Amino acid sequence: MTSEPMTYEERLWVFAQGKRLRRFRGMLRYPRSTYCDACGSTQPSHLYGLRDMENAKDYFVGSNCMARLSLMLVVERPFVRADIISAYVMARGVPEKLRLPHQAQLGEGEQSAS
Ligand SMILES: [Zn+2]
Repeated sequence: MTSEPMTYEERLWVFAQGKRLRRFRGMLRYPRSTYCDACGSTQPSHLYGLRDMENAKDYFVGSNCMARLSLMLVVERPFVRADIISAYVMARGVPEKLRLPHQAQLGEGEQSAS
């Protein structure tokens, strides 16, 4: 049992453990290499921002994980009052000049599973 890899749900639980998460407004679309902090997927087409209010640390997760975490009721209702783009740059060290046509195609290209 210990050698068994965690299921998707388990990874989300582990990610959410001990955190007080709040959402950023908006989302990011990144054509470049990125990853989901919750499940480790390297191909999220959209990234949503989550701030851990306990540790003031920011995380970025794919749309599928964002939806699951919301369903798990581990995301607090108020939004974070911070800019998701600068938070992402701070957290991941991505160059500022990346283009972010966020919101342009909301709802398109969503994956049903990661
Ligand atoms: Zn994920």
